[in-house]
Amino acid sequence: MHFDLPMDLYEKRQRRDVLETEFSPEFEAGNVSVVGAAIYVEDRYLPLNGLRVALDQVARLYAETAASERFAICKNYREIQAARETGKIAFLITMEGIEPLGTDLNQLRVFYELGVRAIGLTHARTNAAGHGGVFAASGSAAEGLTPFGREVVRECEALGVIIDLAHINPAGFEEILSITTKPPIVSHTNARRYYDIERNISDEQIRMIGERGGVIGVNSILVSPREEESTLDHYIDHIDHISELIGINGVGIGFDFFDFIYRQWSESRQKELAAKFTTPHFIHDLTNHSHARNLTRRLIERGFSDADIKKILRGNWLRIFKELL
Ligand SMILES: [Zn+2]
Repeated sequence: MHFDLPMDLYEKRQRRDVLETEFSPEFEAGNVSVVGAAIYVEDRYLPLNGLRVALDQVARLYAETAASERFAICKNYREIQAARETGKIAFLITMEGIEPLGTDLNQLRVFYELGVRAIGLTHARTNAAGHGGVFAASGSAAEGLTPFGREVVRECEALGVIIDLAHINPAGFEEILSITTKPPIVSHTNARRYYDIERNISDEQIRMIGERGGVIGVNSILVSPREEESTLDHYIDHIDHISELIGINGVGIGFDFFDFIYRQWSESRQKELAAKFTTPHFIHDLTNHSHARNLTRRLIERGFSDADIKKILRGNWLRIFKELL
């Protein structure tokens, strides 16, 4: 439920068939059928070009999808099911950080019409809607949402856009739950029990999602602060932990594969990321979508039942889509 695909298509906008040549083989090898394609605007484009870059990302996703037989941009559960039945990979467009909206609620309607169906108010940085959780055990802003942030949340619920709680600071997390009624999702995150930063979620927050029938997607790049603990088994420990707290119905996949972007960066940019947030530790046998079957195999080896594996890999997200889209 989280993949920085539109951003990469935008950076490679001079090229054609990027989706077909670079991504399709990995999706196919991993037998991936639904992908949350996240609009995200990097700092260097803000504030002036946030809207333009976001629209261009959407444009590239549509153009690349149209150029291939293998993909479909889906706006509701019915379309997702139709894509799966015809062997196509379904993209659900999501937005990570509402910077493209500026402070104009009308833009939310525009992005809804373009197909955006899940929105996380913030990335790590503060914006017009609220504050991101810091990459440290404490120190996030004490305030919750701004008045604009509350408007965005209400409008999302009214339109039928899923509210994604990934990245939001603890105060914002609680506030969103207090003003919404539908099941919440956290598209890509990890348990603070294993990686204690406010960007991740605490046991109490996990329980809050569970009580509301929501789903938490487990992230592959913040599994542990220590490189040697960033393993497939430890990824499964996060799944296990969440399912012990709220049951198997509350946990799904939110890989957030990022290695393909990180490798394109200069060393200075990688250092900048480490200084600002953290050094991501990529799991060597869970680095891109072609590795998805490694997870399935290890879940079987760890004794998860077929019924539970089905829920983790797709059933829980499909239930959310059926209920909310
Ligand atoms: Zn993220």
